[in-house]
Amino acid sequence: MLPVRGCAQQGEFWSEQLRALWPGEIEWNSSMARWCTLRVGGPARAVATPSSRAELQSLLAVLTRLGVCKRVIGRGSNLLVSDAGYEGVIVVLGRNFAAIEQRAGARAGEILVQVEAGCSLMKLVNWCVGQGLQGLEFAAGIPGSLGGAVVMNAGAWGKEMHEVLSSVTFLHWSGELVERKKDELAFSYRHLETEEMTVVAAEFLLQAGDRQAIDLKSSQLIRARNKKQPQGLASAGSFFKNPPGLPAAGKLIQDAGLKGARIGGAQVSEVHANFLVNTGQASAQDFLDLMRLVQEKVFTRVGVWLEPEVHLL
Ligand SMILES: Cc1cc2nc3c(=O)[nH]c(=O)nc-3n(C[C@H](O)[C@H](O)[C@H](O)COP(=O)(O)OP(=O)(O)OC[C@H]3O[C@@H](n4cnc5c(N)ncnc54)[C@H](O)[C@@H]3O)c2cc1C
Repeated sequence: MLPVRGCAQQGEFWSEQLRALWPGEIEWNSSMARWCTLRVGGPARAVATPSSRAELQSLLAVLTRLGVCKRVIGRGSNLLVSDAGYEGVIVVLGRNFAAIEQRAGARAGEILVQVEAGCSLMKLVNWCVGQGLQGLEFAAGIPGSLGGAVVMNAGAWGKEMHEVLSSVTFLHWSGELVERKKDELAFSYRHLETEEMTVVAAEFLLQAGDRQAIDLKSSQLIRARNKKQPQGLASAGSFFKNPPGLPAAGKLIQDAGLKGARIGGAQVSEVHANFLVNTGQASAQDFLDLMRLVQEKVFTRVGVWLEPEVHLL
């Protein structure tokens, strides 16, 4: 049986041991505002950036052995980290972890594309455009990493990641690589059940298509996105999930009269009410207080408690 993830040690005891046991890139006491698109959050004790699958494997093995709290992230575009920061190791899967490979699928015109988790979703979409591969145009303009998009089951324009995936490769905390086919994966709205494993790669089943038409569709979707979303202000995209059977969260927030509502430096966007934006000097607490205000006002009005789509850390 696979061992259970440990998180026993806190404090400074493990820092030196980690330094001695893992030679990869680490930033100590690194402000999470740097790693998250909301641009808020206190310091993480350490931010480690493994540059290969082997480095990631050895890092997770060391952290498990030391009993250190850890959290794997991508580009932090769906993450709100508290002002107190994180007393553990944030593992960032970044641009060094971003290979894309393709091979022919079973049927004519089918192409299987294997992508590492640190690849940016936009880089993948652009790569598909260049190769004339269709299926991922809906994701054009969604920020973040491939790993984050799989974990969040990111979606837009009525389509979600799970629809184009064929398998996901995970790394268990024990160091074991686990491949799950699509029909073995539990996806739901903005969620994949990861069983606390790390996504290291995913494979997509795409179709060969007309390069120009794919390019046109992606560009149109990016333009449409830019028109309805606030520009130039830090955010994490839609802050709340859309509640089932009701109007979209943005409409409920707007109808509660909250467009433009502000606590400290955090504001309900004037452009799109489901975007909570950082007007410049917001703290994580400002966002938490504004989130609560929105939840209470919407609950009073329609009796539904909005669930954040953004992950709180
Ligand atoms: C302007 C803007 C527009 C957006 N538009 C959309 C949209 O249209 N549709 C949409 O769905 N989302 C949207 N988002 C939200 C966000 O971009 C997506 O959820 C994105 O897929 C998150 O990727 P990330 O790499 O930034 O994940 P992060 O924010 O880094 O992480 C999100 C969660 O996944 C976990 N995680 C990340 N990588 C891994 C991994 N490799 N293994 C295990 N766990 C991991 C993290 O621990 C965290 O819990 C938007 C955000 C912004 C800022």
